[in-house]
Amino acid sequence: MARRSPNIDSVTTIADDGSRNFLHPHDVKGNFTNARRAFALILIGIYFSLPFIPINGYPAVFLDVMNRRFHLFGLTFAAQDLWLAFFFISGLGFFLFFITSLLGRLWCGWACPHSVFLEQVYRPIERLFEGPAAQQKKLDQLPWTNGEKLAKRGSKILVFFLLSTVIAHFFLAYFLSIPQLWSWIAQGPVAHPQSFIFVTVSTAIIAFNFTWFREQLCIVICPYGRFQSALIDDDTMVIGYDETRGEPRGKSNKDPQKFGDCIACNRCVQVCPTGIDIRQGLQLECIGCANCIDACNEIMDHEGKPRGLVRYDSLNGLKGKKRQFIRPRLFLYAFLLLLGVGVMTFSFTKLRPANMQVMRMQGMPYYLTDDYLRNQFQVRVINKKTEPIQIGVSVDSDIQNMEITGLVGDITLAPETEDVRTLILLVPRGEWAGKFPATVNLAGISPNGNTFNISKDIEFLGPDPELLKRLDAQETQTNPSD
Ligand code: SF4
Ligand code: SF4
Repeated sequence: MARRSPNIDSVTTIADDGSRNFLHPHDVKGNFTNARRAFALILIGIYFSLPFIPINGYPAVFLDVMNRRFHLFGLTFAAQDLWLAFFFISGLGFFLFFITSLLGRLWCGWACPHSVFLEQVYRPIERLFEGPAAQQKKLDQLPWTNGEKLAKRGSKILVFFLLSTVIAHFFLAYFLSIPQLWSWIAQGPVAHPQSFIFVTVSTAIIAFNFTWFREQLCIVICPYGRFQSALIDDDTMVIGYDETRGEPRGKSNKDPQKFGDCIACNRCVQVCPTGIDIRQGLQLECIGCANCIDACNEIMDHEGKPRGLVRYDSLNGLKGKKRQFIRPRLFLYAFLLLLGVGVMTFSFTKLRPANMQVMRMQGMPYYLTDDYLRNQFQVRVINKKTEPIQIGVSVDSDIQNMEITGLVGDITLAPETEDVRTLILLVPRGEWAGKFPATVNLAGISPNGNTFNISKDIEFLGPDPELLKRLDAQETQTNPSD
């Protein structure tokens, strides 16, 4: 099927019959490419070093799912602290809203791990094995029985697969820590089949994505591209083509009055990793990689014309109108972002070295004996720290004669352990006057010597006191000797 030219009404990489038009974007050089490469190297360095950097005895990022502990830059969260993730994720969301509204899809082109690895790792390796875009297209035409194609493309796929295996292992290290990952690798796949399956599936997905799926992830799957149409407006900084300066297209050497600055060389299209033509306006497929800026600047330099025919600018700026980068929606997003950060910071200050859960025991809500009314609770105390902590548990209520058994007094909790105990509250049957609130208090001393408190409200339940009195009276009449 003939490949169609990029147009605003269809996805360049999908043919009319639904088959894939595989792209081979040309290599490009320029200031933005250099800056993006340097930034990507820093990001890749961060991705690969986080599991190695110890902070407070743990890797900087260690999502210890097996033990339900999450270590992030020196802070330890238990599963019960996961509600904080809401503020973290919503804060990130508003940050992305703010950045997108101000600077368009900066994240996609510069910081998204998919773009970083595809453009700065996998694509250069591909060029190393298969040569520039023109040679890659020639290889496409050859059958797999051709020795050259088999050698070049086969070697590339093998290297892609090995690289994907390394990335998958580092990905797993975020959940296991590096020492445990090494030890599990040494023990072999049979000893830890779940992890082996995880790495195998991750490797297959990563290799498939970077070998074949590529830009389809951004165009077809990632929802962020859809969001951008709601987040950006005519004053958002985007990458665009200066139509007033560039049109009509054609070589202006012979007749400068007749043609604009665009010489219709199509270089901006050839370097685009999503195969679009930026001259047709802002499109969902544009990931803001700035390849077309560098490509066009190269052409403008060659033609002796000013750079910036394709550039970072607002849609208003590209049309020659007044630019207004600071506008009301930015204040709204900034306010929501600061609100989220404020709530998250406040929530972090409320984090304790231990967590306590109090739940009514399963079964009857209360038990009635000849002398007492009894309520039973299960108290789970979790030490989130790597050192032992001392805790004491007490119960407060307005009921004078309430007796407490089970979990009371001082306990030493071993590092990163939890203790589940039964708390039994007793109220003399003759003093029962109806349900009442009580508070389970945990007072502890953290490893650094600071004291902390956690309180959980509970309710003591029992039968209707009038009914109980009548029953007791009837029983006394029936058995006066008792
Ligand atoms: S690279 Fe520049 S000059 Fe060439 S087609 Fe694109 S916009 Fe026109
Ligand atoms: S149009 Fe330009 S900025 Fe957008 S994806 Fe293509 S090359 Fe990158």
